[in-house]
Amino acid sequence: MEDCIFCKIANKEMGSLLYEDDKVAAFNDINAQAPIHILIVPKKHISTLNELREEDEALVGHMAFVASNLAKEKGIDKNGYRLIMNCNHDAGQTVFHIHMHLLGGKPLKAGLA
Ligand code: 5GP
Ligand code: ZN
Repeated sequence: MEDCIFCKIANKEMGSLLYEDDKVAAFNDINAQAPIHILIVPKKHISTLNELREEDEALVGHMAFVASNLAKEKGIDKNGYRLIMNCNHDAGQTVFHIHMHLLGGKPLKAGLA
């Protein structure tokens, strides 16, 4: 989608990728909240989780699978990590192309809200 920053990064028009395949791309968050802070995004533009269709079920599962592989690659799988997807304003979504945050590399704050 034009003017979508995560579409541009996933299409390699800007930034650099840590991982890509035909369905998803992963890259470092520009404002890391932990020693490891990676974003996993679908190559297909989906603005929020509300726009998911039944046909996207496997895509979101694939995002989690890729995140778990990246966690292993970064060596944070045994100590642990957190996956987060924010939807709309109350959750703090600021980029309207769905993404999964992979956070780890330190003990993360307890609690979810
Ligand atoms: P949200 O708050 O929407 O769940 O997360 C958006 C995330 O995208 C934030 O953690 C923010 O730092 C990150 N971000 C925003 N713009 C860019 C960018 O241009 N490049 C990268 N790599 N990350 C970005
Ligand atoms: Zn997009």
